[in-house]
Amino acid sequence: MTCLLCDKTLHDQPTWQHFLGIQKDAFACSICFEKFERIDRVIEGDVLDSVDSLYAYNEAAREYLHQFKFMQDVALAQIFAPSLRSVLNDSKKIVVPIPMHPINKRKRTFSQVDALLEAAKIPYQSLLEKTTESVMGEKSRSERLAMTELFRVTADIQRNEAVYVLVDDIYTTGTTLRHAAEALKQRGVQRVEAVTLFRPIREK
Ligand SMILES: [Zn+2]
Repeated sequence: MTCLLCDKTLHDQPTWQHFLGIQKDAFACSICFEKFERIDRVIEGDVLDSVDSLYAYNEAAREYLHQFKFMQDVALAQIFAPSLRSVLNDSKKIVVPIPMHPINKRKRTFSQVDALLEAAKIPYQSLLEKTTESVMGEKSRSERLAMTELFRVTADIQRNEAVYVLVDDIYTTGTTLRHAAEALKQRGVQRVEAVTLFRPIREK
C-alpha cells in the first residue's frame, strides 16, 4: 500500500497504534500526515452553539482540499477518517453534512463532506438542501449577509431534543454553518454544533 499523498510505500510494520487498535489502516505516511497541524479549536457561538475545527488550514490542507475537491480523488477521504471518527463518535448526536448545491454536485460528481463521513463510517442524515448556487467566497460580506435563505430542511425533524452536528470541510466566515444552524433551529432543533476539518488560523 502506498501513501495517498506522496505515493511512497507505507511500511507494514505494526506501530503501537496498530497494537492498541487505535489505528487500523494508515492511508498517509507520517511525513505527509505531520504536515497537517492539529488545532482542535472550539468556539462557542450564537445560533451555532459550538464549532470544533480539527486542523489548521495550512499549505498541506490547501493542497489536500484542492486534490480532493477539484481532482475528484475520492480515496483521499480516508486520510481523515480516524480524526473525524474520534470527534463524531457520539451516537446520540445526529450528524448532518453541509450539502453542496445540486448543480455543483453534478459538476464535481461527489460531495466531499459525504465522502469524508462515509470513509469514517459515520452515519449521517442529509436533512439540508442548498437553495443558492453561488460559491460563498465569490460574494462580498454584505452580499453574504443579505442572503436570507441558504438552506432548506428537506425532511421532518423527528427528534428536536437531540443534538445536531453539522459537518463541513472548512470553516471560513462561519456564514454557511450559521445559516444551516438557523434552518434547523427554525424547525425546533434546540442545539446545533458543528465540526469542520479545517479552519484558517490567522483570521481577519
Ligand atoms: Zn506520504
